[in-house]
Amino acid sequence: MSKSKSSPSPATDFIRNIIREDLASGKHQRLVTRFPPEPNGHLHIGHAKSIQLNFGTAEEFNGICFMRFDDTNPLQEEEEYVDGILRDVRWMGYDWDERLTHASDYFEQLYEFAEELIKISKAYVESQNAEQIRETRGTLTEPGKNSPFRERSVDENLKLFRKMRAGEFEDGAHVLRAKIDMASPNINMRDPVLYRIRKVSHQRTADNWCIYPLYDFTHGLSDALEGVTHSLCTLEFEDHRPLYDWILAEVSAPCIPRQIEFSRLNLGYTVLSKRKLIQLVEEGHVEGWDDPRMLTLSGLRRRGFPASALRLFCERIGISKSENNIEMSVLEDCAREVLDKSAPRAMGVLRPLKVIITNYPEDQTEEFEPARHPKNPEMGTRIVPFSREIFIDHDDFREDPPPKFFRLSPGKEVRLRYAYVIRCAEVIYDKSGKVIELRCTYDPATRSGAKAEGRKVKGIIHWVSARHSVPVEVRLYDRLFSKPIPGKDDPEGNFLNDINPDSIEIISDCQVEPGLTAANTQEVYQFERVGYFCPDSKDSRPDALVFNRTVTLRDTWARLEQDQT
Ligand code: ATP
Ligand code: MG
Repeated sequence: MSKSKSSPSPATDFIRNIIREDLASGKHQRLVTRFPPEPNGHLHIGHAKSIQLNFGTAEEFNGICFMRFDDTNPLQEEEEYVDGILRDVRWMGYDWDERLTHASDYFEQLYEFAEELIKISKAYVESQNAEQIRETRGTLTEPGKNSPFRERSVDENLKLFRKMRAGEFEDGAHVLRAKIDMASPNINMRDPVLYRIRKVSHQRTADNWCIYPLYDFTHGLSDALEGVTHSLCTLEFEDHRPLYDWILAEVSAPCIPRQIEFSRLNLGYTVLSKRKLIQLVEEGHVEGWDDPRMLTLSGLRRRGFPASALRLFCERIGISKSENNIEMSVLEDCAREVLDKSAPRAMGVLRPLKVIITNYPEDQTEEFEPARHPKNPEMGTRIVPFSREIFIDHDDFREDPPPKFFRLSPGKEVRLRYAYVIRCAEVIYDKSGKVIELRCTYDPATRSGAKAEGRKVKGIIHWVSARHSVPVEVRLYDRLFSKPIPGKDDPEGNFLNDINPDSIEIISDCQVEPGLTAANTQEVYQFERVGYFCPDSKDSRPDALVFNRTVTLRDTWARLEQDQT
């Protein structure tokens, strides 16, 4: 297993407490968990919670975790998803060594278990059709009715089940049902279907099978075959636990895993169901699964979220049984926390306004050499050239400044980060009266870092040298939905109506310091005073850089002043 990424203080939650007790009492010698995605879509931030719980506890308690594809459904799965899921789990920092498994690896054993149930009269071949089965299942308040085929003999059941396997019947002609209790208050226990006929190829077992086991039958038995000790799943499986336990108790399972449920992650202003994510992709509401606005792991990665920020997020939200709706800001704060410590600094001007420093020699260039990170000297320094013409951000200039506007305005002074204090002497307008250029003067006695920096000025702004800076495209992202629970206010629950029309803003003529031409994909920079940005892994090219904004800075002014002192 990979090296530890957990925080120094080990998390405690009800699941870890159970695990601790089971190991201390000797009930289990070693923790075994599994992460069991169905390969019918790519992973999202909710899956990160499950990955972190299953792989994370295995790592914490010196146990093992299986990477198991729950591929019982032959129609839905796609190889592209399998590859993507493995890439995402690896990116989260986890490794399954040789423990990459598939529910379909166990089809033969599962079949044997089904025959076992038949032989002890705990399963029967049902010949009613799906609709009849549904109609006789009863309701929450009424019991179901026994099937007319419920009392078939063991021999007849065995013969029919073997014929089902041999392909002698059409889809839907028969199913195998557990014989439990049609009057059970738990509908899952009313003779649930265990196997159905599906004459379709399976991506791994090809045409070896024409009967396929259902999830409830498959899951617990796959757990048992892998020696899973704690089968951790989300709360919607709570009502399935009696069936999980029943199946394991009735067959000769090699061990009895314990299913424990926890509440799933819900995150405001987003959707986290694969069905909805697929719809967003297929209907073209987003660019793809890895669109940086998607809360998929591939989308978050492309947006610049470090895996360590996702792990921090999972740790912070914790594990419990209570329903929750986590604020997006919790996730963003985790990214800020991680990136503040690790992201190299750079200057980038999103909306350039040209400034000519009239008293600076025309052919002169100076090079400043600030730290790449204010608190990590080991990250080294960078070269920032300075010359007579620079760009500053339009937002940092106001003709009629409001009170406490400590940036640039006519007649006022501001410090250029790492460089000099300049004073705005003249404002140049175009025909329509728009500000297009500033003429400023600089004071050579105020050079940053010099012994006497000269006087103190309140404001510090970022800039780039016009002759040296590099034009880039910047993509600013906002939430994909404009409502905390998309679809909640729509009578039909249509979440698409709540898509935020302004979830992306593209600015094509930003200017950044020249060192950023060397930025690698996945390398996130803090554009000082602006936010965190990384080159887009799909669209950025060395000669046409495209940066994604990962997150904004929360309180840029407070932070900058702090750095300065
Ligand atoms: P979806 O609801 O998005 O379709 P799913 O539960 O069908 O997801 P699976 O591929 O079966 O997706 O999920 C694999 C594992 O991840 C399961 O153990 C599941 O419980 C867990 N999981 C899925 N979504 C979440 C979530 N939002 N929070 C926590 N765990 C989740
Ligand atoms: Mg599922």
